[in-house]
Amino acid sequence: MTEKKTLFQKIMDGEEPGEILYEDDRCVALRDINPQAPTHVLIVPRKPIPDLDALTEEDEPLVGHLFLVAQKVAAEEGLTSGYRTVFNNGSDARQTVAHIHLHLLGGRTMFWPPG
Ligand code: AMP
Repeated sequence: MTEKKTLFQKIMDGEEPGEILYEDDRCVALRDINPQAPTHVLIVPRKPIPDLDALTEEDEPLVGHLFLVAQKVAAEEGLTSGYRTVFNNGSDARQTVAHIHLHLLGGRTMFWPPG
């Protein structure tokens, strides 16, 4: 049986619309459809890891790569005064898509605590 594709896999495969800002062999950066800041980009690994608890040692360089891509996109988006990166993990954190993704938020001053 073939596993059902996640929403982000469908976007990567061109089966659902999405504004892709960057892609390489390991991940894609796409604009969030419901932005919570002037810049809101999701950095998504091609590998459909459902949540952070499913990470293995093999994924360690991949997760680091997501942050380097966030750095690159932040520079391209002109986020010179800072930005926030977030993984929502699980229901308490309001994770809604079961395919890990690093949120990159910027373009305004953030609140803390995040709520
Ligand atoms: P999370 O709640 O951390 O799982 O984040 C999921 C994110 O995916 C939310 O910020 C949504 O706004 C975003 N999202 C949902 N559907 C789409 C879509 N079709 N294209 C881009 N972003 C999406």
